[in-house]
Amino acid sequence: MSTFFGAKTSLNRFSFLRTNSEFIKSVVEFPSTRLILFKKESARSDYRVLGRRTDTFTRLSYLLIGDDPKVHLLLRQWADMNARLSPDLRLKTKIAVVFLGLDEDPHAQDSPLVDEPSYTKQKLSFEDHSGVPLLAVDITENTELLESLLTKSRGSDFLATIDDVLGMQPIDASIFSYAKMYIDWLARNQFCPGCGSRVIPVCGGTKLQCTNEAKEVNNENEYQCPVRKTRTNNVCFPRTDPVVILALRNSRGDKILLGHNARRKMLNKRFFSCFSGFMEPGETIESAAVRETWEETGLKIKRKIQIVKSQPWPFPCCLMVGCVGITEEGSEESINIHLDKELDVCEWFDVDFVADLVYGRVTDGDIMLPNAGSVAFELIKIVVDDCLSARGRL
Ligand SMILES: [Zn+2]
Repeated sequence: MSTFFGAKTSLNRFSFLRTNSEFIKSVVEFPSTRLILFKKESARSDYRVLGRRTDTFTRLSYLLIGDDPKVHLLLRQWADMNARLSPDLRLKTKIAVVFLGLDEDPHAQDSPLVDEPSYTKQKLSFEDHSGVPLLAVDITENTELLESLLTKSRGSDFLATIDDVLGMQPIDASIFSYAKMYIDWLARNQFCPGCGSRVIPVCGGTKLQCTNEAKEVNNENEYQCPVRKTRTNNVCFPRTDPVVILALRNSRGDKILLGHNARRKMLNKRFFSCFSGFMEPGETIESAAVRETWEETGLKIKRKIQIVKSQPWPFPCCLMVGCVGITEEGSEESINIHLDKELDVCEWFDVDFVADLVYGRVTDGDIMLPNAGSVAFELIKIVVDDCLSARGRL
């Protein structure tokens, strides 16, 4: 079962084609190539994506590359400079571009382009492969382009809130998650972490290369890039931060432990969820889950942690690793939320009550669970189902 930001789609990343500059050039020349546009309002704000709100879902807007001659010209310039590994790539074009892949079956139900008109879904053929190319483009710095595009994308707007994203269909949400994590990473990393020289996006915008060419070991006027000496040469890769997220039940299987985050205030409902935290260097997923549980709840876990599913979380670049566990017998009463003070409430709930929430049999209470499709919701559902099936009630 896939999760909200990890839905299966007909988009194939074709990561081995990213290094082929002739292929990348053919992508920007192809009229059916689609653009997903991102921009930031300010340095401190998060990225917005071009989309539109419908009665039922928020949809991403997939602009045709040929619809705006200015954009087409600029992307040609970008592809040419990308092929030459030009150090001025970002300064000259004022855009960041990521090749996301080819939609191999744009008429399929799991295609992000399924609702687009048929005549706009011609496939680009390259060697043995074919599909509609998708590019993510950050136009924050290019205000002229931004104005030009906004006049052409009637009905669309840059979506502002996380609620807009959570209102997407899982396929759009997954494409958004994939694209946004790259765009965000490119914007945050302008200089080499090893020597401070400017870095340029390479491989279709999926890697960053240091522009420091200093090679002389004994030349005191040159500062060599230390990253050059590593096995991967002077290339930086995108960052993904693993986060453990854990659903817990007691050893009798009749209660589920849920926490209320002190930072998550809601007007009418109390939002309860699983326990989570960033993994630290030197930890296994299991040991991070045990540590986070103790730090947030004061409870110890009895049995082996089970890793059951994962979900990308693009705010900004996390991978949620979903686990389930069982607390130590007799420890139910020793909850302590004053260790790391992440939670302001931590409570045991009857499995039957949580099952009613999970299956929508209670909607008007004051307790609210995470959105269906999120890994937190799926983990709670797994624990509920396990408990009920052990009692022969499912
Ligand atoms: Zn460097």
